[in-house]
Amino acid sequence: MLINTEPLRKVLELEHKKGYLDSAVFGGLDKFLRNWTGQAIGSITNSQLLSRFHKLHLINSSYASLTREQRKEWVKSVLEWVAEAERMEEEKGGDKLPEESIMPSSSPRLTPARRLSSRVRRQSTVANQSIDSPITVIRGVSSSLATRFKRLGVNTVRDLLYFFPRRHLDYSQTKFISQLTVGEEETIIANVWQAHEVRLGGRRSTEAIVGDETGNVRVVWFNNPYLVKQLATNKRVVLSGRVSLFSGRHVFESPEWELLEDRELIHTGRLVPLYPLTQGLRPRQVRKLMKEVVDQWAWQVEDSLPPELKERCNLLGLPQAISQAHYPEDEAVKDKARVRLAFDELFFLQLGVLSKKRDWQESQPGSPFGVETPILEVFLKSLPFELTAAQKRVLRELLADLEKPRPMCRLLQGEVGSGKTVVATAVLLVAAANDYQGAFMVPTEILAEQHFNNICQLLSRVGHQEESEDYLNSYSGLLNRPLTVALLIGDISQVRKQELQKRILDGDIDIVIGTHALIQKGVEFHRLGLAVVDEQHRFGVEQRSELRQKGFRPHMLVMTATPIPRTLALTLYGDLDLSVIDQLPPGRQAVKTKWLKPAQRDSAYAFLRRQAASGRQAFIICPLVEESEAIQAKAAVAEYQRLSEEVFPDLRLGLLHGRMPAVEKDGVMRRFRSGELDILVSTPVVEVGIDVPNATVMLVESADRFGLSQLHQFRGRVGRGQEQSYCMFLAENPSEIGRERLDLIEKIQDGFQLAEEDLRLRGPGEFFGTRQSGLPDLRMAKLSDVALLELARSEAIRLFEKDSSLEKPEHQLLAKELARVWQEGGEWS
Ligand code: ADP
Ligand code: MG
Repeated sequence: MLINTEPLRKVLELEHKKGYLDSAVFGGLDKFLRNWTGQAIGSITNSQLLSRFHKLHLINSSYASLTREQRKEWVKSVLEWVAEAERMEEEKGGDKLPEESIMPSSSPRLTPARRLSSRVRRQSTVANQSIDSPITVIRGVSSSLATRFKRLGVNTVRDLLYFFPRRHLDYSQTKFISQLTVGEEETIIANVWQAHEVRLGGRRSTEAIVGDETGNVRVVWFNNPYLVKQLATNKRVVLSGRVSLFSGRHVFESPEWELLEDRELIHTGRLVPLYPLTQGLRPRQVRKLMKEVVDQWAWQVEDSLPPELKERCNLLGLPQAISQAHYPEDEAVKDKARVRLAFDELFFLQLGVLSKKRDWQESQPGSPFGVETPILEVFLKSLPFELTAAQKRVLRELLADLEKPRPMCRLLQGEVGSGKTVVATAVLLVAAANDYQGAFMVPTEILAEQHFNNICQLLSRVGHQEESEDYLNSYSGLLNRPLTVALLIGDISQVRKQELQKRILDGDIDIVIGTHALIQKGVEFHRLGLAVVDEQHRFGVEQRSELRQKGFRPHMLVMTATPIPRTLALTLYGDLDLSVIDQLPPGRQAVKTKWLKPAQRDSAYAFLRRQAASGRQAFIICPLVEESEAIQAKAAVAEYQRLSEEVFPDLRLGLLHGRMPAVEKDGVMRRFRSGELDILVSTPVVEVGIDVPNATVMLVESADRFGLSQLHQFRGRVGRGQEQSYCMFLAENPSEIGRERLDLIEKIQDGFQLAEEDLRLRGPGEFFGTRQSGLPDLRMAKLSDVALLELARSEAIRLFEKDSSLEKPEHQLLAKELARVWQEGGEWS
């Protein structure tokens, strides 16, 4: 006779899950055991099994009076006994295990013996394996199934637990057949009257008539004759799906279905998860697997959040959150589950950046600067304009940082044209006055040249030019020695480059301007005191570790024209302090922005010609062909030829692309800036930072291919002088999202607002490039959820204040989890 071990095992597993509080069954475990043993004892025939049964005192148990530790031990022993009993039953039955046991539900029902044997196996698996094991440890997951999951980025059991459904279908409300509405997704519980195979559209299909006390309804499953066997007459079945009308009668067409038995429903009659699928994975199969995995493994996930934090923030426990995210009881719990999981992502992100900041600032002293230096006064006085109030405020914030013995880590945000460069130049001079070197890093060589020229121009107004060579100028009269500024870009001759590098190493150069290569390849500084990084909203992680590897802990200023809502900035760049220039220099006007259809190209050209006639200049940005610079350059050359020969033969055109030698680029930029050219035809390289106040027209081809922030950057190239400026975006056949972007850029001038829209359209991952920047992935967290962001941030700070290195015993799990999350996320050093 079979020992009915299943109820006992279930109760004990639940008791284990709930933490041995004697809460698994109503009335307590002892009462349950009295009942169960009374029924089961007669069927225990094996003497060995019986003697162990007695040793465990299952009959007169006193679970209620045990301590939690004792309960745990005892439950474990009883479960071992159960496993043993089930194993023996299996041997008696002699059943073989099916090869792949995530049986599609259309396969025959498991016999009791098979069911038992699968449980035994699973039980021992769960006991011995960690959730970081490959998913093949899960019973029934073959290596071929594992390969299919791998394509979805799922390798370990933990990955599977975090493989969340895209969404849920709400099949939770059951209806009577008489209440069905055509066109609605409905769920019914019914009796099968009869089911048979039919041909529908030439394919073998199943048709069934089912009924409840209010009526009958026809159900068809196209192309699936195998269901007939499952739907035996008088079986109870749950159906969920859209109701349609056929010959005036209701019919369910290929609904989700499930037999109503004593186990939990997973495909119908509830919130049913829809998983992202890949070839070779069937929805029912994945759901079934996920249910098993969640039930068996979710409770093994360690919840690292301290209980008092969870209570304060009203967060679900982690195992519960994971299981509810897959198979939620209702919408409200589902939301709570999402909140908990999103909180974790943001919280660990935040803890990570905070510890990076601590490492950066505290593991070595920085170099405090004296900021009362005459050169600053002289420089500011010499400017052809007065700093705006916002610039002055930000400058003060920077100087206050520089005075401190720990290195500055500051992010400076400012709308395009708000005047970040001047402020950066001012602090670079302060570094020089303190006998420290400064590095100014920019994303493109063209921009490096422009900054070099600008800074030299500014310095020549106050200092006396001493030495002047290609890529290097020095000025006397500013410090008690000549102040030397150099440009280091890939394009200069090897000999020159080596000479510059040597002078940088000797400490003979005060300010060096270049691309990121500055801190990457072969450049060694004598005494680097300040690093400024311009126009790099993805800057972060890598460059900072790069610097650290060189043994520097200079003050660091990161500048960006991509405005990021404050909370987001604090979350993603939480290791940086934040300054904002929230004001444009006086006299700036809104740039008139228009999205044009290809048919309007000629009138755009005509407009441009009129502007040129009145002495203004224009940019034309070539169509975006491909990411490759070489192809991009070729396309630009062709466009330049077309424009100068066919469209504007009478105007002076210049060409700019990334593949041109630096001297040529420099020449073109110089001629454009000095007004010798009317139109600059360019690849999207001018996107960043180029500054020509007399340019009033920006014409962008294939504008729908650019992101909002990029379009805004293009627009920022004009409107820098006193004249009214115009921006024209041409788009052939914009996609829906492209169209939306163009609508938005037409309407909105404010960079902040655009950034928020961009975030909404693109999603956080793409917007911030979190993947590339080495930050952990965000799956559940929506960065638009400001309240949760703020909560996660304030909790992280609170924890950090209490125990910044997570050394306290109650924070050990947190420390472990933090290490795991960040190690997966990227290569932080
Ligand atoms: P950003 O880098 O923030 O986009 P820039 O530093 O390139 O802006 O400055 C844009 C232009 O505004 C430059 O021509 C600069 O000389 C000018 N500028 C900067 N600050 C002021 C100011 N306070 N008043 C007038 N013009 C300014
Ligand atoms: Mg700039």
